[in-house]
Amino acid sequence: MSRASSETSIFTEMTELARRTGAVNLGQGVPDLDSPPALLAGVSAAVLAGRNQYPPAAGHPALRAAVAAHQRAHYGLDFAPEAEVLVTTGATEALAAACLALTGPGDEILTLDPAYDAYPADARLSGARLVSVPLTLDGDGFALDADALAAAVTPRTRLLLLNSPHNPAGKVLDDAELAAVAELCRERDLTVVTDEVYEHLVYDGRHRPIATLPGMRERTLTISSAGKTFNVTGWKVGWITGPARLVAAVASVKQWLTYASGTPYQEAIALMLGEVGPWAAGLRATLRAHRDLLTAGLAEAGLRPLRAEAGYFVQADIRGWGAADGLRFCRELPERAGVVAIPTSAFRQGEDPAPWLVRFSFCRRAEPLREAVERLAKAASQ
Ligand SMILES: *Cc1c(COP(=O)(O)O)cnc(C)c1O
Repeated sequence: MSRASSETSIFTEMTELARRTGAVNLGQGVPDLDSPPALLAGVSAAVLAGRNQYPPAAGHPALRAAVAAHQRAHYGLDFAPEAEVLVTTGATEALAAACLALTGPGDEILTLDPAYDAYPADARLSGARLVSVPLTLDGDGFALDADALAAAVTPRTRLLLLNSPHNPAGKVLDDAELAAVAELCRERDLTVVTDEVYEHLVYDGRHRPIATLPGMRERTLTISSAGKTFNVTGWKVGWITGPARLVAAVASVKQWLTYASGTPYQEAIALMLGEVGPWAAGLRATLRAHRDLLTAGLAEAGLRPLRAEAGYFVQADIRGWGAADGLRFCRELPERAGVVAIPTSAFRQGEDPAPWLVRFSFCRRAEPLREAVERLAKAASQ
């Protein structure tokens, strides 16, 4: 079985286990939190007003303008809406189109390990080799090994595929780490594709796009999406910003993947993006509290949690329960405790230095999270 199909099966297997056993599903990163009512109303209004045909291939002009305004307001980055912003079918399409546009057989894509499951799949689609550099465990969190990253660059390295805030690690690259990555990219003339879908979900510290560092704007494609920011993961509206020549390359591939999608969603998101600040502050407060609840519950149950600075997930060390193999642990956890988690090893490419890590998600409502925490405490005491 290929890695792709075995990875798919762990998510399918765990979701099926949750359904069969009635376990609380903290495996998948699918939020069940509310969305801004104005955003939902905006979609209905757009549908009923007849905005139901293809948008321009590059995206609804209002959304491209809103994305450019967002990058300027939040990060001081200037992009021309006509040539430097491309709307995509979720961040997923942006990632695939960028890999297909910029790499091919014989090329290497450098990324961090663990990694979001689309990255190895996208590398395979383009025929490129994915080279993974492990994030190192550093006390109760993860750190970037800048020397290891530099050592992994070869003459075939075409792309650095970065993800900060990181899924599944919950890691936000700090200023020193970003500076080291930027220096490496300038020195080795690397193009960066950076997945920043959790840009508004940083609980400790702040998000800083790598494109804001000196010399980086001209070599970076920045990807984001409405899914995680507004709890609308089923809408699949994403976008990519960057210098015109790179955006044009991605657009030429994207045209033959989906051409365009989601006109009424794009129109509604365009209206909402300008007001993302107050909305995201509220969502962050909720998710920070959920992160704290889950983190405290895991610690209480003897499953040592790692620091989750951002995103949807906490990794926990299962060795406190006498376990060492995350996959086996996750297969047994629904029966043992009534909770579903995903082994962090599912996101590993190379040798796994920490097969005893398991990923729990906290993007659920408070009630299922409290229930999960109580169940873990009960199982721990048995
Ligand atoms: C959820 C997620 C995506 C996918 O985003 P869509 O807009 O739903 O396609 C991409 N990257 C990371 C790291 C994610 O967690």
